[in-house]
Amino acid sequence: MASPLLLDGKGTAAQIREELKAANSQRRAAGQRPPLLAAVLVGNDGGSESYVAHKIKACVEVGFESRLLRFASNISQNELLSVVNGLNHDDQVDGFIVQLPLPPHIDAQVINLAIDPTKDVDGFHPVNVGRMALGLPTFLPATPSGICELLRRNGIVTSGMHAVILGRSAIVGAPLAQLLARPQEPGNCTVTLCHSRTQALKEHCLRADLLVAAMGKPGFVTADMVKPGAVVVDVGTTRVEDRHRQSGFVLRGDVAFDEVAPLCRAITPVPGGVGPMTIASLLTNTWQAATAS
Ligand code: NAP
Repeated sequence: MASPLLLDGKGTAAQIREELKAANSQRRAAGQRPPLLAAVLVGNDGGSESYVAHKIKACVEVGFESRLLRFASNISQNELLSVVNGLNHDDQVDGFIVQLPLPPHIDAQVINLAIDPTKDVDGFHPVNVGRMALGLPTFLPATPSGICELLRRNGIVTSGMHAVILGRSAIVGAPLAQLLARPQEPGNCTVTLCHSRTQALKEHCLRADLLVAAMGKPGFVTADMVKPGAVVVDVGTTRVEDRHRQSGFVLRGDVAFDEVAPLCRAITPVPGGVGPMTIASLLTNTWQAATAS
């Protein structure tokens, strides 16, 4: 089999950033202020710190304004609700995110429900989830829409494919199932959504033309689970200890890349696949929020 197409999320995201940068320059030349994304970060979780830093860096790159609001992990739920309320009413803020996970004493759904849906650039508010389900214009959740955009921009036509998704979380697997089943391209797939209670998982995987792994189980998908010629998207990003690295860890995907890649028509790397596309989609949503009215 010919060597697989590497679905280069890093390069594709850079292309999207270039487009946003150019559009933003035009907007500024017309006398309008740049879009502003605010990020709320609670506590000192290493992963969250790093995700938020990447989001802010991406804003700088395209000329968007950004605002980082940091709080200690003992902030109360009511105090955090006041922060959200302030952002909802701040005309300078086009969109904002509250980085997850939140400390256990804070109910993430209460916070999510308090976010103004018109500023919910993560696309997690029930109003936006519902609009997506109905196929109405909305903020699409960043990781699933980033995956669709990665496929589209790399010439993968999904129409008619049997897509098998491993993982049904509300931020990745479940919304991706909806997007891939939409009557449009990318979409028009027949979708099987698997989870930890799925029976005969391997048999489902072997029927996949498009296999998406979003479980957080490093190296779970092995060569014997993949149909030759399949397109494989690896969403998993787990920090695995690696004493040889300065950071002390390495990011590992859910797919055993070295043994699976030779079988595939196309495959995403980890890192450099879905991750950068997630951030590019967040920028796209922020642009949409700023230019909506
Ligand atoms: P999550 O909320 O923990 O969900 C994991 C899903 O995997 C659940 O639906 C779970 O099933 C399923 N699962 C776990 N073990 C399984 C097994 N043995 N067989 C079948 N299904 C199994 O995780 P998430 O937030 O969706 O994230 C998943 C991974 O993607 C993580 O590595 C995360 O870091 C990564 N991620 C990456 C990006 C990015 O931009 N690259 C963005 C978001 C997430 P149940 O529902 O039955 O428990």
